[in-house]
Amino acid sequence: MKSVLLSRFLILLPWVLIVIIMIDIDIKRTIWIPVAGRSSRALQQQQQQQQLQPRVARTGAPRVTQSQNQNQSALPVIYAITPTYTRPVQKAELTRLAQAFRQVARFHWIVVEDSTTRTDLVSRFLARSGVSFTHLHVYTPRRYKRAGMPRATEQRNLALTWLRQHRTKKDPGVVFFADDDNTYSLELFEEMRSTRGVSIWPVGFVGGRAYERPVVSGGKVVGWYTGWRPDRSFATDMAGFAVNLQVILANPRALFKRRGSQPGMQESDFLKQITKVTDLEPKASNCTRVLVWHTRTEKPHLTNEPSHRKDTIVIEV
Ligand code: UDP
Ligand code: MN
Repeated sequence: MKSVLLSRFLILLPWVLIVIIMIDIDIKRTIWIPVAGRSSRALQQQQQQQQLQPRVARTGAPRVTQSQNQNQSALPVIYAITPTYTRPVQKAELTRLAQAFRQVARFHWIVVEDSTTRTDLVSRFLARSGVSFTHLHVYTPRRYKRAGMPRATEQRNLALTWLRQHRTKKDPGVVFFADDDNTYSLELFEEMRSTRGVSIWPVGFVGGRAYERPVVSGGKVVGWYTGWRPDRSFATDMAGFAVNLQVILANPRALFKRRGSQPGMQESDFLKQITKVTDLEPKASNCTRVLVWHTRTEKPHLTNEPSHRKDTIVIEV
């Protein structure tokens, strides 16, 4: 009798383990509950939507004195959306950003990790950053992690979904896409703060030139100075524009596209959904000043990293 029970137990054990592992992997990727009786298309849409939802967003805020608060509460909040991913220079990049952002009044940093979890490094970093933040994560499907594919589409879209779920018509704000490999002048935030619809300005080191800029005449954008695809409707970089929060809320379907979007066309395809070239608000002295640069940090040379014997202590870099 005992041996029969034991053999049944041993037969069942691997299957139970497989099921537990599968459930664990699935929960780590996304949380979704299949609903019986829905069509597969509806289910697919639901899954896609739920993939965009973080399990819980973690937020934090630095201390603000009451007088600071009163003086600044009239200003719209700047929401900077930063997709980021694990690599040797990540903390250095985020440090450069935080040191600028913590000096900007009424600023909220939405950091979206391209990761299956919120990593300890970024969680600790944000907690000590001195910047008000929301920390989200969504992992880019492996099939999209290829050369020539647009990056951070899912991360930016998750941040837009978060804004649509957590902000209302009563919240004055300006939304800006702040990639982690750029350098930001504090003046840029003063410029974008007054964005009523969609504002635009030059960006350094993009489009194959020292800078790319909208050409302005009579206070309107009439063309683009760029070295790359001048046929783009909006020949601008992700760091070259800001959108009033109310425009984001009023266009709930406006998202960054995977399907039908050619490489490098993310910005133009997104802006087409929410504005017209003639409505753009030129900033930075009619688009004649560069206040943001696509600096890109050089990949560090790590050829002498030991493969076996590591340091005697573990240091976060
Ligand atoms: N990024 C990401 N996952 C990736 C690659 C990039 O989240 O697999 C982020 C990156 O940290 C940056 C933004 O997406 O904030 C744009 O990436 P990158 O600067 O590499 O793209 P490029 O400027 O070449 O379009
Ligand atoms: Mn970049």
